[in-house]
Amino acid sequence: MLTKVIATLGPASGDAETIGRMIDAGVRVFRINFSHGSFDDYQRLLENVRDVSEQCNRPIAVLGDLCGPKIRVGTVINGGIELPATGAVRIQTQPVIAGEPGAITDGHITISCGYEPLVDEVEPGEPVLLDDGQIELRCESAEREADPPHLVCRVVHGGLLTSRKGINLPQTRLSAPALTDYDRQCVEFAADHDFDFLALSFVRRAADVAELKDLMRELDCRPGEDRSGRFLPVIAKIEKPQALDEIESIVDEADGIMVARGDLAVEMSYEAVPVAQKRIIRLCHDYGKPVVVATQMLQSMIESPTPTRAEVSDAANAIFDGADAVMLSGETAVGRWPVEAVMMLRRVAGRANAYLRTVAPCNEPPRHVPDSRFHSEALARGVGTIVHAMDAAMVIAWFADDGSVAYLSRNRMTRPILAFSDNERALRRLCLSHGVIPRTMGRPASTSEFISDAERYAQTHGWAEQGDPLVFVLGEPITSADAINNIVTRRLGDSSGGYDF
Ligand code: PEP
Repeated sequence: MLTKVIATLGPASGDAETIGRMIDAGVRVFRINFSHGSFDDYQRLLENVRDVSEQCNRPIAVLGDLCGPKIRVGTVINGGIELPATGAVRIQTQPVIAGEPGAITDGHITISCGYEPLVDEVEPGEPVLLDDGQIELRCESAEREADPPHLVCRVVHGGLLTSRKGINLPQTRLSAPALTDYDRQCVEFAADHDFDFLALSFVRRAADVAELKDLMRELDCRPGEDRSGRFLPVIAKIEKPQALDEIESIVDEADGIMVARGDLAVEMSYEAVPVAQKRIIRLCHDYGKPVVVATQMLQSMIESPTPTRAEVSDAANAIFDGADAVMLSGETAVGRWPVEAVMMLRRVAGRANAYLRTVAPCNEPPRHVPDSRFHSEALARGVGTIVHAMDAAMVIAWFADDGSVAYLSRNRMTRPILAFSDNERALRRLCLSHGVIPRTMGRPASTSEFISDAERYAQTHGWAEQGDPLVFVLGEPITSADAINNIVTRRLGDSSGGYDF
């Protein structure tokens, strides 16, 4: 499948059997969300993915999702507390169990929050959103000299508040660090356990991504950034309005982007999200960076075996917008139908991609590209033109370094790229790249041996038929080359050998 499916692991899907069924249904990247669970839980999930991936002989990637500076409500009495519309609420950083008789002061319900600078940073008039925006408060005053210091808020939209719910402060300039102490522990864990991607939540500026990369360099998982060794790409999650103000520099700094529509809708407005999605995807294409569209793709499948028509249209439109990957969250983490949700998304993606092939046989290559690998990048652009001109069925590559195949993917050729390598880490990283089918193969003894083996593989798996035009991309000599430097065009099964460029 050209568009990649990411599934979030959780209680509904973390066992090896369900992971296996989700891989069969089309998942190529699993997300482990560091917001829920313990390091033992994450290790178990990771081991299950690695075991199943080995059994089915398929590279499957694991993405660790860092919480970032998520602000949360403290403890609330069991069963929660009702915040009535027009009611008054105090928020303080001094711990209190909200809903207990002692936590009502001067008619104000008092709740706590673990973010120390809260009272100094929220200004009167600013919104304070609780539980993904389900409950809306407005700050009336910031009592900074009081004991304890607190915010006085009015309830605009009431609701039931339970412990540890998220707090969003969309209009507040927060001084929170990009990485919390817990994030740092998670980064270390991800580096030690050979994760394939790290996503950073609540990115506000390019410097947040740079800070994470610095930490990774200390942990030796971005050596020289040449994608060798333990190179761990960083996906910046765009979910704050401040990030959209600086989106170009963030896209430039990150290795990939996630349109995190859950928090983005809360922090901006629901109606701002579709436009932001298109803008972010467009920019990612300009910079040649992979982009994931996430959250509520098939939300109703948490409860129901079928999605709504609107969800199906939304998922297809994310692909028409140009998403490299679409992500399932609650649907697979806690839903009743995790495997069915993946199957549905795969069917939607299959139709959407088939349609794109009829209207956009070969999309424009990226406009802004780094020039450090200019040779591979230029060659990859040429491949896009050849594929278009020949109406090739697919591209087949042998590579040592996934950077060159990532360049091929950026062409968004609406044709699959069957990419063989003996570099397992690089193969896993390609699980997020549009159109790439990564497969393990030992280094071939000769180019002709590779071509005949790869053709047989493509034919056996139904990707190409006798006589189909194919474009091969490889290093010459194949027995030792690290970078791709050769393009061969031929028809599948042609005994004359084909044309070298
Ligand atoms: C989101 O907010 O859309 C998102 C992907 O992040 P999380 O699932 O961590 O809330």
